[in-house]
Amino acid sequence: MAADDPYRDPSLPVEQRVDDLLGRMTLPEKVGQMLQLDARQDLKDSVSTRLAGSILHASPKRMLEAIDLAAGTRLGIPLITAEDCIHGHGFWPGATVFPTQLAMAASWDAELLERVARVTAIEVSATGIHWTFSPVLCITRDLRWGRVNETFGEDPYLIGELGAAMVRGYQGDGLTDPTAIMASAKHFAGYSETQGGRDASEADLSPRKLRSWFLPPFERVAREGCASFMLGYQSMDGVPITLNRWLLNDVLRQEWGFTGTLVTDWDNVGRMVWEQKVSPDLVDAAARAVRAGNDLVMTTPGFFEGAITAVEQGLIGEDEIDAAVRRILSLKFRYGLFENPRAPDAARQAAVIGHADHAALNLEVARRSLVLLTNDGTLPLAGGLVPGGDGRAATTGDPKTIAIIGPNADAPQSQLGDWAGASGQVDWMPDGQPRELIETVLDGFRAIAPADWTITTALGGEIEQLVPDPDGETYPDGQPRPPISQPATADPALIAEAVSAARAADYAVVVVGDTVALTGESRSTATLDLQGGQIALLDALADTDTPIVLVLLNSKPAALPPSALGAAAIVQAFNPGMRGGRALAELLLGLIEPSGRMPLSAARHVGQQPVYYNQIRGQHGTRYADLTQDPLFAFGEGLSYTTVEYADLTIPQPEVTADGTVTAAVRLTNTGTRPALETVQAYVSDLVTSVTWATKELKAYTQVLVPAGESVTVQIQVPASSCTLVTSDARRVVEPGDFDLLVGPNSRPESLLSARFRIG
Ligand code: BGC
Repeated sequence: MAADDPYRDPSLPVEQRVDDLLGRMTLPEKVGQMLQLDARQDLKDSVSTRLAGSILHASPKRMLEAIDLAAGTRLGIPLITAEDCIHGHGFWPGATVFPTQLAMAASWDAELLERVARVTAIEVSATGIHWTFSPVLCITRDLRWGRVNETFGEDPYLIGELGAAMVRGYQGDGLTDPTAIMASAKHFAGYSETQGGRDASEADLSPRKLRSWFLPPFERVAREGCASFMLGYQSMDGVPITLNRWLLNDVLRQEWGFTGTLVTDWDNVGRMVWEQKVSPDLVDAAARAVRAGNDLVMTTPGFFEGAITAVEQGLIGEDEIDAAVRRILSLKFRYGLFENPRAPDAARQAAVIGHADHAALNLEVARRSLVLLTNDGTLPLAGGLVPGGDGRAATTGDPKTIAIIGPNADAPQSQLGDWAGASGQVDWMPDGQPRELIETVLDGFRAIAPADWTITTALGGEIEQLVPDPDGETYPDGQPRPPISQPATADPALIAEAVSAARAADYAVVVVGDTVALTGESRSTATLDLQGGQIALLDALADTDTPIVLVLLNSKPAALPPSALGAAAIVQAFNPGMRGGRALAELLLGLIEPSGRMPLSAARHVGQQPVYYNQIRGQHGTRYADLTQDPLFAFGEGLSYTTVEYADLTIPQPEVTADGTVTAAVRLTNTGTRPALETVQAYVSDLVTSVTWATKELKAYTQVLVPAGESVTVQIQVPASSCTLVTSDARRVVEPGDFDLLVGPNSRPESLLSARFRIG
């Protein structure tokens, strides 16, 4: 390598630099560029021998070693480095860890999520990481799936809006922006259509079904300029996603014009051999993966030898490798990595990581992520408090005792959820994020309840014990197998202690839910029940006269027992991040207003799966013989501390052309005494369709502040071009005819006003 080699000259066009560099590269150097290897493994082998073009999961220390090793290779091609920073820089000690994607989705606020992604990028880019594997655009379909927490919920439109916002936030002013990181839309596409909720199983998806629900969010972000896409794990119609040339090439690259980078998921190429058994060896698997249009191959070190042999044996041409390498190199040139490898910058880290402004944004998003599901008037506690001068709520002259009970009341790890600290993916943070940065629910009440209130606490029961996996310590690919969760048995002594704490209190705040061991990849659940001693605890507490405020701090909606449903109020918190406990305390004390809305439907019973709202019309009856099909909580549902009435939905010009816009107005009246941040939701129902189609679909929403006692008129606009369906030959079209615009506070039919329009 000489300093004056044309590829080193930043004044030359990227194309020319790529041509020059590619012309100098040996086959092993080219194949190496296609490798994204695990930096926890032997770095010298990965970077110096296999010449990997990319690494992931590099601890702060290993990141520096890897950059040096890459600089020492023959051509000095810089690494592109990646990490799962999916709700903040979760694996960097002390970074800002936001609520999980599902929790943030409950805000329904794209602008807020764009700010979260921007702050994440500012922190991440200071640490030498160029690429985050976020956002997740999978659609939640079966609540048993372990990865529901990583999604934005169940609606393709909402997912597209929020995903696009996060892409904008991560990528800032474009890849040359020093605070930009590359976003990755994942998992392309259809991974969440599981069988029985099982992770990464065969997905029963036709091209039509993909185009109907699964592809639209991806198309949205591809057109938004998302720089990379990551594949899922599943196979469809017998074809592993890694070999789905139709999706990777015809749809993504040709139809949508995507020019970014593709990365497989973890060892997808190896899995074709050892798991799915569709390839006899890595030579065949590597050849087929290249031919299908993949760029970077994640964590299959043997792809190196496999692809080289495949070229030598004539299974693929070197030009096919060149096509992928060309895309990878042009990304590195466009990113400016040859001029500046964007190494970790200690000064910037000190200035930005965990910055007070980021912590303030974290509190803001945590507040917005909370969903009030039921309330008999107990909330806000004591009629609602106001801020005092000392960071606490002002004292009321009538001091109360609050018992904070339950296994998730003081559970830092559950609060952060998956992909953060000690959640299991990385090995350099065994103790998780610093405890002092995490405000649990107990911490929150202790910090902000009025100084003369008494806060007591009791565990009440455990959720689980962790035991070794009977299948062994490692997976076939050598990855460590985490211990498995075994439900704890209810402990009468802990329950008795909790009951007496509740009896001695004016209110009991009971925080139940799940744990990281019940969440995530390969951790789908067979039931949606609260595990361990939690139901027994709730049953016992229901027998006290103390009002119970139930907080569900979990990775996905639970099916609740009768004793839970009888609580005075229920708040859904999902995993609310580092500041979630404070936000919850503020909400329950009435220092803030509840504004979150469910980004997915909750089931009454696991057997109701799937329970998402936009199901296809047509079935015999509307209920099971032994249970309603009605969800426990519906998509879009959530209460305020006031009531907002919807009236007078009008569409002044109900005849629109196919390129026109339906404009409607609705009047909202706040009939209570507290303000409301209302999410006005607009669904469309196509009255007669040439193929069976969803009862209704969300097409627009808007958030509006409605002051106490006031009325506001809200305008809603729905482009006629969005009132589509997908034909039996998988074309998305608008079929002229009559439609109902359904507007209201949630997706329940009885909550929606209706007005007819016609597309001519
Ligand atoms: C997950 C991806 C993740 C990748 C890298 C995979 O197992 O499915 O979502 O980005 O690992 O950590």
